[in-house]
Amino acid sequence: MDSLIAELRAALGPDAVLTGACVGERAAGIWRHDHVVAGAIVRPATTDEVSTVLRLCHAAGQTVVTHGGLTGLVEGALASPHDIVLSTERMTAIESVNATDRTMCVQAGVRLQSAQERAAVEGLMLGLDLGARGSCTIGGNVATNAGGNQVIRYGMARESVLGIEAVLADGTVVTSLNAMLKNNAGYDLKHLFIGSEGTLGVITRIMLRLRPAWRSQETALLACKDFAAVMQLLALLDEKLGGTLSAFEVLWQGYYELVAGESPPLPAGSPFYVLVEALGSQPAADHERFVDALLVAEGQGCVAASLVCKSGVERTALWALRDNVEKALESGPAFIFDVSLRLSDMDAYVRQVLARLDRDAAGHRTWVFGHAGDGNLHLVIAPGEHAIARGDQLASLRLCIERAVYEPLQQVSGSVSGEHGIGLEKKRWLSISRTPAEVALMRTLKAALDPQGILNPNRIFDYSHD
Ligand code: ZN
Repeated sequence: MDSLIAELRAALGPDAVLTGACVGERAAGIWRHDHVVAGAIVRPATTDEVSTVLRLCHAAGQTVVTHGGLTGLVEGALASPHDIVLSTERMTAIESVNATDRTMCVQAGVRLQSAQERAAVEGLMLGLDLGARGSCTIGGNVATNAGGNQVIRYGMARESVLGIEAVLADGTVVTSLNAMLKNNAGYDLKHLFIGSEGTLGVITRIMLRLRPAWRSQETALLACKDFAAVMQLLALLDEKLGGTLSAFEVLWQGYYELVAGESPPLPAGSPFYVLVEALGSQPAADHERFVDALLVAEGQGCVAASLVCKSGVERTALWALRDNVEKALESGPAFIFDVSLRLSDMDAYVRQVLARLDRDAAGHRTWVFGHAGDGNLHLVIAPGEHAIARGDQLASLRLCIERAVYEPLQQVSGSVSGEHGIGLEKKRWLSISRTPAEVALMRTLKAALDPQGILNPNRIFDYSHD
């Protein structure tokens, strides 16, 4: 690797290549407690430099792990001493914004929040938002097809991407920066790279689709007596809010009571709580319509109690409550899961997981919440003090808990990953959600685009070239 590092330094300049202590002092991720392990970190600033890095690494048969904001949750960016890390941290240019076309072209290392703020200057918005907005990068969002809090309205990251530029494993630059809503001239190549977790190419630039900024924001917390009421509420709001429903987050009782603490905004004791938000364009009319819809919901019996936000402060507090996952991690180790399934299967699925955990992981503590309107749930499961006291190995305990969470998805055709991806962490469970033919086609694509398997090696599925 030493001669390759010397070649990279010669090509990109000494500052662009970090080795030794400069590598090891970096955190491996914003949720992680360990540090980056890698042979070197290479920091190209342009697409041409990315191309140079990959051309040299390809020639040397060198594996490359791409780093964006390191906010992922499935070990997608975990490197080894045998890998070179390609960081997009110097690729932070917002290259252009076109208010007429409603597009923004950014380099991959631009932070999501920076892109959001730039769009706002033009009176526009990006239909992508997630808690890690200040750290995550657009390149990472697109490579993992990130979800977040507004998917019910604006879709996953994929829906905000019009075009892409990516560099293939051998250094070939594929510039496909389409800026139109419609373009059926052959294969839509951007979809090869969106959500493929950096295994088929390194995304260098993205042409984003922008939308008109919203002018009204209505937020409420609602309590529901059962899951049937939650589903009825979703259907009703979808119908009554004229397409402005932008978040439908469900908190199961245990999670709500954990995060709400001593002074809950709505009294504890309801089986379900729903955080709803509508983004619109006419403040007065939108408010009236929102309140009317909630009155209808109460009249139909699907809402037992409600709290409509009257200020930005109240809204921020409600969202902070929803996002306070750390609270579940305070009392010891806990595993975070991300699954998706049809709304009609959700209630029974959660009950089934809890029953299996009671049977196989006695003493567990489990909290459930998520973007239920998107069919996407997060479960946080603490193995329980009894298990830890018994000295059970955390790894075998984790496997047991993973089985309880993932196996019931098979019979309902659910997904082992709603929005976090597969990375290294979930690949053993991929076959629950993908058929052998689907995985074989993924391998065919990998073999065609990265035959040596140098890009983000063994993410999603194991791959070795002949
Ligand atoms: Zn989420």
